[in-house]
Amino acid sequence: MISPGALGQQKHSSSRDGSQLVESSRPCPYWNQRTQELAPYTPGEQPRDRKYIKLNTNESPYPPSPRVLEALRAAATGDLRLYPDPTCLELRTVIAKRYGLPGPDWVFIGNGSDEILAFAFGALFPSRTEEGSTEILFPDITYSFYPVYADLWDISYRTPAVDDQFAIDVEDYFVNAGGVILPNPNAPTGRALSKKALLSIAASQRNQHRVFILDEAYVDFGAESCVPALTDHDNLLVVHTLSKSRSLAGLRVGYALGHPDLIEGLRRIKDSFNSYTLDRLALAGAAAAIEDSAYYEDMARRIIATREKTVQGLTELGFEIIPSSANFIFVRHPARRGPELFQALRNRGILVRHWNKGRIFDYLRITIGTDEEMAS
Ligand SMILES: *Cc1c(COP(=O)(O)O)cnc(C)c1O
Repeated sequence: MISPGALGQQKHSSSRDGSQLVESSRPCPYWNQRTQELAPYTPGEQPRDRKYIKLNTNESPYPPSPRVLEALRAAATGDLRLYPDPTCLELRTVIAKRYGLPGPDWVFIGNGSDEILAFAFGALFPSRTEEGSTEILFPDITYSFYPVYADLWDISYRTPAVDDQFAIDVEDYFVNAGGVILPNPNAPTGRALSKKALLSIAASQRNQHRVFILDEAYVDFGAESCVPALTDHDNLLVVHTLSKSRSLAGLRVGYALGHPDLIEGLRRIKDSFNSYTLDRLALAGAAAAIEDSAYYEDMARRIIATREKTVQGLTELGFEIIPSSANFIFVRHPARRGPELFQALRNRGILVRHWNKGRIFDYLRITIGTDEEMAS
């Protein structure tokens, strides 16, 4: 008898960004059709083989606020035997207050903002089988998790092309669609749109009773936030993460802000999956992070200053750099191919992100580290 293990034979292969992954060469006979057809997202590598200067996953080079660590220690008690609050009410109240929103019913908490995005696709975008469904829209160069979520939920999509400097033309999003999702600043380019431009997309989609999901993962590094416009735009959902500007990628917390009806949609999906997506430690640490704005504003200022210095240094070395409002830059060198640069840096112990994709093949995305890291 052939064992199922032998059927689902594994081979080692190099992933698109150069990391070593174990990929299945053949579907396992026990997988259903959906699982066989999935094309999962590949996160940036987290290698353990040697010490690297990690500039590949947009984490903060600075530690979380000391108050966060204190809150985590204080939460590590015998109470961990009890389930956490499934509604995350305290944290939602802290966040609503921080952003001047009418109340906690304008806030949803997720286990990382990726989880929220996954729920939002399922809750707010029409699936292919729905009557009157149309394609959702996102740029051709953007966060590569969006097509993965769309496929997972069976949502069809179209990807308007950004221009040769990676700028988004907002008019591409004024058309009939199933809804729109964008990061601002965009990833992996770092380019930002103005609040006015973004709100024009929200207004256009609202006329068709469609939702605009705005992923503000990097907004604290120099872009204009649309959060102050939420109370005037009931079809706008803004998603934030504690993973980048709040130095808490290891805690897994994100939040979405928007009209209570949108928030209720997310809750319905979440409570059909898992009542307790946030643990007690994460809830305590996240509240402390939201409350210590001063610390994080200071860290963001440092990262922006390092970014400007890095841009200047790399420009002098002949690199072309897309204008960035994020904690990373998107660069190419006219005389070097992308993989060549990627490998040369890797050999020197520096990890950056490269995609084996047509339009961006010669570009590298470089996360802004500390001044010392960027100097090496
Ligand atoms: C990093 C990132 C996220 C996800 O962050 P989480 O760690 O899941 O909170 C979401 N959107 C974009 C564009 C990102 O770059």
